[in-house]
Amino acid sequence: MLKTQCPHCGASYKFKDSSEGKQFKCKQCGDTFRIRSESVPPVEQPPLPQSADDFELPP
Ligand SMILES: [Zn+2]
Repeated sequence: MLKTQCPHCGASYKFKDSSEGKQFKCKQCGDTFRIRSESVPPVEQPPLPQSADDFELPP
């Protein structure tokens, strides 16, 4: 199942996987867009703060 949002008005639709790549006309705004699987980028983890213990002071 593909979940796609209209890029124009944001209405969300669900399609069969076989519908990928087909043109779809939004029922709400009439905009036409191509059905494709929503690629959600992985949430980037913020880098861990460096521990002050790693810092070596010169003698
Ligand atoms: Zn729309």
